[in-house]
Amino acid sequence: MAEIDQPLSEAILGFDPNELSQRYAKEREKRIRPDAEAQYLRISNDSPFSNKYLEDDPYSEKLERAPLKEQREIILVGGGWVGLLTAARLIEAGVHDIRIIESGSDFGGTWYWNRYPGAQCDIESYSYLPLLEETGYIPKLRFSYASEIYEHAQRIGKHFDLYKDAIFQTWVTELRWLEDESMWLVSTNRGDEMRARHICLGTGPANRPRLPGIPGVEKFKGHSFHTCRWDYKYTGGNSEGGLIGLADKTVGIIGTGATAVQCIPALGEGAKQLFVFQRTPSSVDTRNNKETDQKWAKSLKPGWQKERQRKFGEAFLGRSIDPAFIDDGWTRLTRNLLDLADKANGKIDGLMQLADFKTMEEIRSLVDDNVKNPEVAGKLKAYYNQFCKRPTFNDFYLDTFNRSNVELVDVSSTKGVEAINATGIIANGKEYKVDCIIYASGFEITSSYERRLGIPIFGVDGKSIYEHWQDGMRTMHGLMVNGFPNLYLCGGGFVFQLGANYAHGIDIQASHVAYTISQLRNRGIKSANVSIDAEERWIADQLQASGDGLFLGGSPDTCTPGYYNQEGTAKRYRNVRLETYGKGVGAYIRLLRQWRENDDLHGLDLN
Ligand code: NDP
Repeated sequence: MAEIDQPLSEAILGFDPNELSQRYAKEREKRIRPDAEAQYLRISNDSPFSNKYLEDDPYSEKLERAPLKEQREIILVGGGWVGLLTAARLIEAGVHDIRIIESGSDFGGTWYWNRYPGAQCDIESYSYLPLLEETGYIPKLRFSYASEIYEHAQRIGKHFDLYKDAIFQTWVTELRWLEDESMWLVSTNRGDEMRARHICLGTGPANRPRLPGIPGVEKFKGHSFHTCRWDYKYTGGNSEGGLIGLADKTVGIIGTGATAVQCIPALGEGAKQLFVFQRTPSSVDTRNNKETDQKWAKSLKPGWQKERQRKFGEAFLGRSIDPAFIDDGWTRLTRNLLDLADKANGKIDGLMQLADFKTMEEIRSLVDDNVKNPEVAGKLKAYYNQFCKRPTFNDFYLDTFNRSNVELVDVSSTKGVEAINATGIIANGKEYKVDCIIYASGFEITSSYERRLGIPIFGVDGKSIYEHWQDGMRTMHGLMVNGFPNLYLCGGGFVFQLGANYAHGIDIQASHVAYTISQLRNRGIKSANVSIDAEERWIADQLQASGDGLFLGGSPDTCTPGYYNQEGTAKRYRNVRLETYGKGVGAYIRLLRQWRENDDLHGLDLN
């Protein structure tokens, strides 16, 4: 990092920014690996781990059904938030001929698959859980646990009568545009052959797990699983904990990201011995969960959820924070920024880095407050800007390291676990014998599009979408792609740019897609293809012109490696750059609204 511009004295700040800057650079350097994303094993439908981590469903019996040959107006690929919200918004717009294809055995997407103990939403549930007003539901807690979120996905499915048109346990294997018919041909692993006028791709960022390519990973003879396919038959208990099956087991967990932070407290309680293999510590802020205040719930007026979601999104733009979010962990950085601006007589320029240091100093001091052994506490402190990695929030994680049956194994100096053999995990030259390895190693969230989507997609003239995107994702509005008519990419990479509340970003897009499809239908238009000019304008005028936004996250030059910066590779970062929309969620809502109000489907070549 460059020398820090210091408009405030060290006495006011309480830390030396240049010292921290050097420490951050050192910690980053320690973890940079030349093999970047290649260090992870790709789990595709034809790779050795595919059945265990893709098609096999540990939570349900396999369903048998005959292949389908049919034609629909719309096929929604994925029955998570994208599929559910887009279907709901389409139905509200009067469009009903919808088929949902889902890989799990029920709705929920990531909340169907991720049932690990402690799983919980990190965004307050009143803003995160979609369609609360439409379904008449108020979450029980400020931060809902996974079972309530999964139940809510089912509630949406029932409320909008979506089960009758959904097929589960089905993986789409190819999408191909049929020029002569102005239709998409959808192939699946069940031998289905379906046609649809419109396709909405909602496979989500976390639908493909990844395993670390640690030498010997395939040699382990004990039990192992990835957190997204938690094996309760082996561990006992459920998503609330009580892992009694581990009482006589030694467990090793690899990874300390957002998932691990949530499940490690239950593992510490349940296992005879737990080894936590940590390469980079997460920033762990307080959770402070609360039961919903029923008086408040009864006082809510129609339109409250959209308003609350918008205000949550706006709380990240460095302006005043709505009182509802003043004690929310996500706004700690904005609070610090405003506080420093106050001390600097209202000037905000040049304060962001200092506010970030202050925020991380506060989060690091929580480690000292909670972890008794100073050596362990030192290893648990995160030295990078807060948004270099996904911030986490948990009131039980740090205390777990005070347990005598839990050992933190720091593997940062070897850039990860060294090796795995038949009986255990090798780290820092020592073998840790374990009965079970749990991989909390994440997902293909920002790896190459081909790798993360995993579905071959062929558009006009049989061109592959991955060829079109070889220099980075290209779209209009983060949604439609030149050469791929009637295809809508909801969620995915773009929605990350809209802020932390992923489900809100999806809803904004779902309403827009519903409008577009209903308009095309009403006007008798069979095919709508974004013009190359409209794609260029979106990239130049909206993405490149908007900058990176306020927060100091992701940059491969200054951040510790991780999926936010594609493991620290500047070249690949360009893929993400083209998606970067730094104007905030409110501006995106206004932009799409204006496009709809213009009522001319601007930028689309219509047929
Ligand atoms: P992450 O990709 O965030 O974490 C993977 C972990 O595995 C990292 O700690 C990584 O270390 C570690 N790792 C990888 N390879 C090795 C290795 N060879 N040796 C040692 N450690 C290794 O995955 P998560 O599943 O934790 O989270 C993914 C995302 O899912 C989150 O960022 C968030 O967006 C979402 N999520 C959301 C939740 C919520 O909202 N409630 C809860 C959980 C997840 P390193 O950091 O050094 O690379």
